[in-house]
Amino acid sequence: MTDSQSDRPADPSYVIDQMISAKAIAARVEALAREITQHFKGTDKLVVVGLLRGSFVFIADLVREIELPVEVDFLEASSYGDAMHSSREVRILKDLRGEIAGRDVLVVEDIVDTGFTLHHVIHLLKARGPRQLKVCALLDKPSRREAAVKADWTGFEIPDEFVVGYGIDFAQRNRNLPYIGKVRFTGPSA
Ligand code: 5GP
Ligand code: MG
Ligand code: MG
Repeated sequence: MTDSQSDRPADPSYVIDQMISAKAIAARVEALAREITQHFKGTDKLVVVGLLRGSFVFIADLVREIELPVEVDFLEASSYGDAMHSSREVRILKDLRGEIAGRDVLVVEDIVDTGFTLHHVIHLLKARGPRQLKVCALLDKPSRREAAVKADWTGFEIPDEFVVGYGIDFAQRNRNLPYIGKVRFTGPSA
C-alpha cells in the first residue's frame, strides 16, 4: 500500500507494501530493549552508537526503552554504490565524537544485508579497545550474507526484499513511514 499521509512516492513506478506494522515494531523494540537492559545491567554508562542514517528512528525508540544511563553517538558509514546495490567498499563518512576505549558499546544498525558494513564497523570500533561491543540490528536478511557477521540482537529476519520506512530510505525518500514496507516496482505508469 502507498502511504497517503506521510510520503506518497512521487515516482509512480513503485508502490510500498506494508511488511511490518508500526505496532509490531514497537512491541519488538520493547522486547529488545528489555534484553539489552538485562545484558548491560550495572554498566556505568552505555555508549549506544547509531549507524547513520538508516538507524535514526530505531535508535530513538530503542534508547527510550533501555532502562540504563546511556550516551548516544553516531557513525556514518557508506556501503551503497547506488540506491539499490551494495558495494564491498565501506567508507567512514562521519566518525564518533566520543572515545569508546574501556566502554560498553552497543552498535545499532538498521539492516544487515551482505554484512560488509557491519563487519567493517565492528573491526574499526574493536580496534579502539571497548570493554565490550555488542550489536543490535532491526532487520536481518540472512540469505544475502557474504561477510561473517551476526548481530547479538535482531528485530526481524526478512526475506531478500528491498525495504523502506522507519528510518530506511529509497533514494532518500520514505524514511518517515512509521512502518517497514517493501518496494514493489510497477513499471512505467500509464
Ligand atoms: P550491507 O553492508 O550489510 O550489505 O548493507 C547494509 C546497509 O545497506 C544497510 O545498513 C542499509 O543501509 C542498506 N540496505 C540493505 N538492504 C536494504 C534495503 O532493503 N533497503 C534499503 N533502503 N537499504 C538497504
Ligand atoms: Mg545502515
Ligand atoms: Mg540508504
